[in-house]
Amino acid sequence: MSSQNLQPIQGMSDITTPEIFWWQKVESDARHLLSLYGFEEVRTPVVEYTAVFERSLGDTTDVVQKEMYTFMDRGGRSLSLRPEGTAGVMRFLAGLGPEAAGKRVYYIGPMFRCERPQAGRKRQFHQLGVEALGAANAGADAEMIALQVHLLNQWGLENSTVNINTRGTPEDRQAVSRGLAEALTPQRDQLCEDCKRRFDTNILRVLDCKNEACGKIVDGIPPVTAFMSEASRQYLEQVRRFLKLLNIPVCMNPRLVRGLDYYVHTVWEITHGALGAQNAIAGGGRYQMEMDGRVIEGVGFAFGLERVIASLQQGKPSGPERSVAPLVWLVSLGDKAMEENLVLAQALRQRGVRCELELNKGSMKSQMRAANRAGAAQAVIRGDQELEKGLFVLKNMSDGSQKEVDLPALMNELVRGVVAIEPAK
Ligand code: AMP
Repeated sequence: MSSQNLQPIQGMSDITTPEIFWWQKVESDARHLLSLYGFEEVRTPVVEYTAVFERSLGDTTDVVQKEMYTFMDRGGRSLSLRPEGTAGVMRFLAGLGPEAAGKRVYYIGPMFRCERPQAGRKRQFHQLGVEALGAANAGADAEMIALQVHLLNQWGLENSTVNINTRGTPEDRQAVSRGLAEALTPQRDQLCEDCKRRFDTNILRVLDCKNEACGKIVDGIPPVTAFMSEASRQYLEQVRRFLKLLNIPVCMNPRLVRGLDYYVHTVWEITHGALGAQNAIAGGGRYQMEMDGRVIEGVGFAFGLERVIASLQQGKPSGPERSVAPLVWLVSLGDKAMEENLVLAQALRQRGVRCELELNKGSMKSQMRAANRAGAAQAVIRGDQELEKGLFVLKNMSDGSQKEVDLPALMNELVRGVVAIEPAK
């Protein structure tokens, strides 16, 4: 294998220490909080039949048209790596039948989009998402946004903004498309090439085009709500009222549409100040999706974890604080001592003591060097003499002091060290 073959695929990353500590913190904080809101975890497969995504995300969306990793399996079936989490979760929930009513689930896992890799945009990235069936109203949408803000606070992520808008109902869609087409027609020729195409295929997407000229044109036309029914406008007002009650400031953003076709009513996106061009850390909204002939309605969101962690790192490059048990290093002088230490190590770990030992034969000096390198707090040294006497040399690595102890005293001392660092209940 050449060294080039040892790199992960472009746009995909190996994630390990020290960055992995951020991932662990973010995920465990989230698991705790999500349980307070009544969410259960679900792990769906990363590969689904392509139709699961085509039908639910909309076959004119960028994700489906340009970004999915799609392939034929050996049985000639078209499969895709999931580009997002909602469609697979809805497939799962629809399969539960009536049991799915009112379910609240969350997922954490990798998503795949074959986009041009750049800062903040990867081909394999990770999302933490939630989906709530049940109440289909403004209160449920506000509760979701409140949960997201709670998560941000729990993680200690400041400087983020919640932008919200509405997509109205499927019944509004025609009137909105017609209204936008009328408003944009006089300047149609000035739109970028992509938007000229979108004008006919998916005119809403003209609204969130990143092209500066398109942005100026869109700023000059009425907001989408102007083309919607009164009921849809009222729904949005309700969401805003509930968020006010919850003390959650949001920005109205009439250009926000979100990329997928399944959204209805409230849509939102959370951005973070420190991220540059790809500054969206989460997206969410209410959706309706057809699964096996049935329409399922839910509300949910997904955080992009790479971006959440990049934002957290801005304020704290040293990483999250961790409390780990002090390390004990077992030093073996001779084959018999190594054999005995292998057994001792297991007994210590079973009592919650973090310990390691060198399983290659090494001199006392090299084993002590390894203990120092690993940051061991104590070393247990055993050679033929100690084995004969049934004793252990226990060495304090910070001040170099050492003493001879028997097995009960050794266990007592090392296990007590673990209990002392256990967090208060
Ligand atoms: P979306 O549903 O596409 O808005 O995705 C939800 C969140 O996932 C976004 O706000 C980003 O934080 C994250 N995300 C989406 N695509 C990518 C990507 N290619 N690389 C990294 N993060 C992404």
